Amino acid sequence: MSRQIELLAEETLDPKEWEAMRALGHRMLDDAMDYLESLRDRPVWQHAPPQVKAHFEGPPPPGPEPAGEVYQEYLRYIHPHQIGNDHPRFWGWVAGTGTVMGMFAELLAASTNAISGSFSYLSNNYVELQVLDWCKDLLGYPPTASGLITSGCSASNLIGLSVARDAMAGFDVRGRGMQNTPQQMTLYCSDEAHSSIQKAIEMLGFGKDALRRIPVNESLQIDLEALKAAIENDRAKGLLPICIVGCAGTTNTAAIDDLNALADICAEERCWFHIDGACGAWTAIAPRYRHLVAGMERADSLAFDLHKWMYLQYPIGCVLVRNAKAHRRAFSLTTTYLAHGEGDRGLTGVDVPWISDLGFELSRGFHALKAWMTIKEHGTAKYGRLIQQNIDQAHYLARLIEAAPELELALPVSLNIVNFRYTRPDLDDATLDDLNKQIETELQERGIAVASTVTIWDRHYLHVGIANHRSRREDFDLLVREVIRIGNELA
Ligand SMILES: *Cc1c(COP(=O)(O)O)cnc(C)c1O
Repeated sequence: MSRQIELLAEETLDPKEWEAMRALGHRMLDDAMDYLESLRDRPVWQHAPPQVKAHFEGPPPPGPEPAGEVYQEYLRYIHPHQIGNDHPRFWGWVAGTGTVMGMFAELLAASTNAISGSFSYLSNNYVELQVLDWCKDLLGYPPTASGLITSGCSASNLIGLSVARDAMAGFDVRGRGMQNTPQQMTLYCSDEAHSSIQKAIEMLGFGKDALRRIPVNESLQIDLEALKAAIENDRAKGLLPICIVGCAGTTNTAAIDDLNALADICAEERCWFHIDGACGAWTAIAPRYRHLVAGMERADSLAFDLHKWMYLQYPIGCVLVRNAKAHRRAFSLTTTYLAHGEGDRGLTGVDVPWISDLGFELSRGFHALKAWMTIKEHGTAKYGRLIQQNIDQAHYLARLIEAAPELELALPVSLNIVNFRYTRPDLDDATLDDLNKQIETELQERGIAVASTVTIWDRHYLHVGIANHRSRREDFDLLVREVIRIGNELA
């Protein structure tokens, strides 16, 4: 009995009325440009009231809604209540702002919806490879190094540490697995290293106890003597030290470890040298400050991102690996449905790995385009000046704080992060901790600025991390005035 096929009119997700959809798209772009142009006059942060949360409850829509109404909903319930990191006075944690060209590039990348990962001979992959070459060039890394554009520095740390594990374990980790480790491996980082290091180590099966968190000195850099002692101690116990993770800028204070000293210790101890440069790697392009990250180019793997300090739209990160073979060995896996031989010999006879041979993801978006277009639009010299400008602004803010009797710096500024607190001689530390937490909240709730708070030496400080190409000195003048005013009001 033949089955009846109902010949319904076929459907698509493309618009029925292209002209109307085009007009809506133009309107969205105009609104986005108006918004960005007037950003400075808007509150940094607007908390989402309960009715906004309530708006996002309910079942999936079974039927269609007009596209224009969906956009209206976006404008009303979504657009005003985001985190605000595009604003000139957003300095919470360490966050980037985005660029106008980056926004356009995201639109273009979405328009072709190119998958970046497979196949070698495609323009989108050439763009990614060129952005990687630019990163190597700008950060002083050898051109023969390998690399990958990632979704951020957490992914970059995971990939870098994964290559380190496979290269240093001394047995076939990919084949035999961590349960067959002949010798227990240990890794080292400072107490101030980012949580993504620990997460990567947990995911890679080392267990967090294998990560030795080394105490820091008074500048919150890894204590080199304590590090050497820990390595020696582990060796004496029959363990296998395989990797030291250096911080090129910590999230709390932008402390930069002594990277040359760490590279020397790695050479002596036959350890892999991984650097987390999420906060500070781009210091390398600021003419007056690049000496601060000297030694970074000696890392075996270097993780950083372009969505904090290169100001690009989230997400985009990068990892560079000095030994290209080790990088590929850690991730290459060619199945029949992804067959590309030993590389792609189809066109030139040259062994060209797929980008998916260099990381854990197969299908990836075309993140490199926004980097390529924005860096071309502005040039690297201007980028160097902007990085320098942010560091100068941190020093400017520190001077304002030092000049104000109501304010106190946590420690001298080392890079682009300033930690300080409102203080009064008649208040104890516990009261000041609460007060500064409240000041943080008031700054946010009143839409003035966004700073976060950190705990340094058991005290709460306001944390201003400047990875913002829109900030001006006047914004820091305002911040200082407002912190004092709110502090006086609340104290
Ligand atoms: C932000 C940050 C990370 C994580 O990077 P993401 O891009 O947010 O995944 C890692 N290390 C440091 C020092 C950071 O500041």
